[in-house]
Amino acid sequence: MSEPLNPIVYAIPVFLATILIEAGFAWWRKAKVFDLADSLTSLHFGVMSQLAGAVTKFAAFGIYVLVFDHLRVTTWSMNSLVAWTAALILYDFCYYWLHRMGHEVGVLWAAHVVHHSSEYYNLTTALRQTSSGALLGWIFYLPMAVMGVPPLMFVTVGLIDLLYQYWVHTELVGRLGPLDRILVTPSNHRVHHGQNDYCIDRNYGGILILWDRLFGTFVEEREGEPVVYGVRKPLASYNPIWGNLHFYSDLWDAVKRERGLFAKLGVLLAPPGGWGHDPTKDGFDPQAFKRYATAPTPATLAYVVFQYALINIELVLLLIALPRMSSVEATCDGLFMVATMTAQGGLLEGRIWGKRLEQARLFIGAGCAAFAPSLFGFDAPPMARAGFVALALVCLTWLTTRLPAASSSRARTANA
Ligand SMILES: [Zn+2]
Ligand SMILES: [Zn+2]
Repeated sequence: MSEPLNPIVYAIPVFLATILIEAGFAWWRKAKVFDLADSLTSLHFGVMSQLAGAVTKFAAFGIYVLVFDHLRVTTWSMNSLVAWTAALILYDFCYYWLHRMGHEVGVLWAAHVVHHSSEYYNLTTALRQTSSGALLGWIFYLPMAVMGVPPLMFVTVGLIDLLYQYWVHTELVGRLGPLDRILVTPSNHRVHHGQNDYCIDRNYGGILILWDRLFGTFVEEREGEPVVYGVRKPLASYNPIWGNLHFYSDLWDAVKRERGLFAKLGVLLAPPGGWGHDPTKDGFDPQAFKRYATAPTPATLAYVVFQYALINIELVLLLIALPRMSSVEATCDGLFMVATMTAQGGLLEGRIWGKRLEQARLFIGAGCAAFAPSLFGFDAPPMARAGFVALALVCLTWLTTRLPAASSSRARTANA
């Protein structure tokens, strides 16, 4: 029997089509809700999280199955609509607490901060997902295993919960009346992504906003006080590796400063910034806020868009081929994609290392396609390999001769 296909493979075309529709509407309404460099970075984070998830989610799901097999008190019927509905509501309840702790516990915020690092709010922000969420996130769902929710039911309702949250990441849908007080909607989730004083640590729900109303974390979007998106300590980078690691780095510095095991553990469990300067405690002035921006040339942006299109094809091929690939092949393929996206981040920032990394990975990619194609797990025919080599060499030549000399100068521009 063939392996079931990762459902994200089907979702990717829907994501891309709806992003284009949203961008078209935004252009038509002259709404400045997109920034191409920011959106490309969000999409890179999305691809990175899929690559990381291929490894970490497998382990986390294994623990769920283990607990279900040995510790469950009963077994929910897979044939009951009531059981499916209850499982979705139960998952959403567990998600609320995972998400809330993701904001209130330092080591969990280190993973979740990725999702909040965009200073724009659009459908690409929804795909700005963490790569380390599965490291600790599974703990919050173990009650479902103990209660007897079958693993297939668990992953299905988890996928529904995740996919539901996609559509709410838009500024183009206004208030929806009573729905805003029952379900998670664009209006109340905009508040969740805000850094205005009234938005901090509010509206954690996944599908139901009722949890926030029940546990005292709900607030309505305010008229006349536009939400400023992002976090108080800005990422200020398009590098997807640094975007995933920067808060772990802050935590590590704070842990090193403490003396004694309990004090060090306390740093991990304290609220973000609870062990030092907490930027969320400062009053926030929306007028003074400047969005992070660099000044990539149109040629750089076009190049990064083109590479993103190729990365998407690579991701789909990888997700399809993954069950048949060896761990060496999958690792080589994954690292090549991570190097590609990191280099694109460097190019968008105008970094010289971005250009050097991109040149190096194109050179290595062409060499592997020519002489060691099995490294990437594909049994490609000679024509396809020759095509890949030619494409890499064209990119390499174009990058070297046409892209402007990279500089390390960066600029923050005024909030448009
Ligand atoms: Zn959040
Ligand atoms: Zn969100």
